[in-house]
Amino acid sequence: MGITKENIHQLINLQGHDLVLDKLQSGIDRIPKEIAVLRQGLDGAKAKLAEAKAAVLTWEKKKKAKELEFASKDEAIRKHSMELNQVKTNAAFKALQHEIEQARVAGGAIETEILECMEGIDAGRVEEKTAAAELKDSEADAQVHIGALEKELVELQGKFSEQKAVREAAASQIPAEMLRLYDHARGRGKADVVVPADGGNCSACRINLAPQMIVELAKAKSLVVCESCQRILYKPEPAVKPEPAAKPV
Ligand SMILES: [Zn+2]
Repeated sequence: MGITKENIHQLINLQGHDLVLDKLQSGIDRIPKEIAVLRQGLDGAKAKLAEAKAAVLTWEKKKKAKELEFASKDEAIRKHSMELNQVKTNAAFKALQHEIEQARVAGGAIETEILECMEGIDAGRVEEKTAAAELKDSEADAQVHIGALEKELVELQGKFSEQKAVREAAASQIPAEMLRLYDHARGRGKADVVVPADGGNCSACRINLAPQMIVELAKAKSLVVCESCQRILYKPEPAVKPEPAAKPV
């Protein structure tokens, strides 16, 4: 394919535009992931609050059960106390007294447990309140960050569209066959598909170039493609100032 030095400069220029697009695209790809991480971060605070709520509920259930248990002991004491008036023998009286005493001891122990439950509920409610406040803070924080990221995403998308138009305008100046080779090489995932020769080597894959290729590079009248890495090669010419590669992002 016959080309000119100007075509090579156009291609280098196009690659500059594409590198800017790549950078913008990586930002566009990165932001939704960052937003997802921020949202996931809130899950920890939510779990902590749910845990605190569950702990309070557990203490409350236990307290209720203990209260029922206490009531049954109380009822036993009341019942046995009435029976005391009806027993005929001393042994039966003493047995009832013993039962009453045992119920009182058990009732006392249950009361202690009820107090523990109440302390548990109080402590749990403090934790719940703290966790709720922390979640609220985290949510406010995340909202600010997510808002900033979403704004950045819109800006990047706007810049991408502008840059894409600049790129397409630059691409339209390049001979179709040359552009096809370039796009094909880029489509295979290489960011730098137009690279300078470095003396007798490809500057990207470092392979030695055949003498004929070096001659062709010097002539710059045909497209020279590295046989090893398939990149388009050119001979660097510091004397020729290329067009500015691309707008800074
Ligand atoms: Zn190469």
